Amino acid sequence: MEDQRFVTNTFREEDNALDNSLRPHTLREYVGQEPVKESLNIYIQAALNRHEPLDHMLLYGPPGLGKTTLATIVAAEMGQNIHITSGPAIERPGDLASILANLSQGDVLFIDEIHRLSRSVEEVLYPAMEDFSIDIMIGKGPTARSLRVPVPRFTLVGATTRAGLLSAPLRDRFGIIYRLELYTPEELARIVSRSASILKVTDAEESGMLEIARRSRGTPRIANRMLKRARDYADVRNNGTISADVANEALRMEGIDELGLDKTDRTMLATMMDKFGGGPVGLDTLSATTGEDATTIEDVYEPYLMQLGFIMRTPRGRVCTPAAWAHMKRTMPQTAQTPDGADDQMRMEI
Ligand code: ADP
Repeated sequence: MEDQRFVTNTFREEDNALDNSLRPHTLREYVGQEPVKESLNIYIQAALNRHEPLDHMLLYGPPGLGKTTLATIVAAEMGQNIHITSGPAIERPGDLASILANLSQGDVLFIDEIHRLSRSVEEVLYPAMEDFSIDIMIGKGPTARSLRVPVPRFTLVGATTRAGLLSAPLRDRFGIIYRLELYTPEELARIVSRSASILKVTDAEESGMLEIARRSRGTPRIANRMLKRARDYADVRNNGTISADVANEALRMEGIDELGLDKTDRTMLATMMDKFGGGPVGLDTLSATTGEDATTIEDVYEPYLMQLGFIMRTPRGRVCTPAAWAHMKRTMPQTAQTPDGADDQMRMEI
């Protein structure tokens, strides 16, 4: 169900060409994530000075925030090639062994959804990450023995939606761990302005870019996708000019409201309010009543609803805040629960 949504931040087929054409190639072009860029820049310089590969790096955060992009930038800045694969694509230990054996010295190996590697594949990865060698079994039965074979020194860049999904031994083998944050509307406006010039939009007005940015859930992939829709609308209705009105209208047609919430977000909030008095609602109950799986709710919906200050996690479940009740144009019942101490602060934000 998630993949059908316009605002989904997970990868869709149409994104493939779009993602590639709009990817920045250098750290300087990469917008936002300032603390990550600042420290990464130092580590890259240090590794280059020492003529060594960069330490293994783990990137985590919701989909569409620029993990793959950052991996390609690391390879480019190090002057090396990148090999891109994903956890589910590496089915057997032998698959990983052959990927590793085919790397060149200094290459970057990017494994998306690294938490989905099987245990047996992970075990091949440990010595490869630590000692740049793999253990190969020779022979069968009682005469079988294991042979340690070197692989080229490489940099592993792993990506996952949550660091907690990784097994501890795997997580511990990454020297650099970064969490990517949702982007601010100003950063997203810079991203879409840059994309608009690459896509040769006739006239991308600043207010139009900001309008798209505000609705893209803190996520560059969604912002770029929205830009494409707005460009279509502008070409047909407004001589190619993306003004605030054009962006508004194009996104309204897609069922996206002024904060970037779509039908599913609103159904989720409405369910919490109408059936559970605003919460607390447990994740499993939310999943059963909305028909979305629990991981999708946690990785895709909640980060943005929490950034908006619409829901809060409490030990007893998710709770809607007064801001969410106001946005959904419902009166918050006197009996509705708000997390301790959060009440006053949230009322001020409305
Ligand atoms: P992830 O791997 O986290 O799912 P991607 O790296 O594929 O996300 O990014 C999705 C799209 O968003 C890419 O097309 C990329 O151009 C754009 N993008 C992501 N982060 C940035 C950024 N910091 N600056 C500019 N564009 C970005």
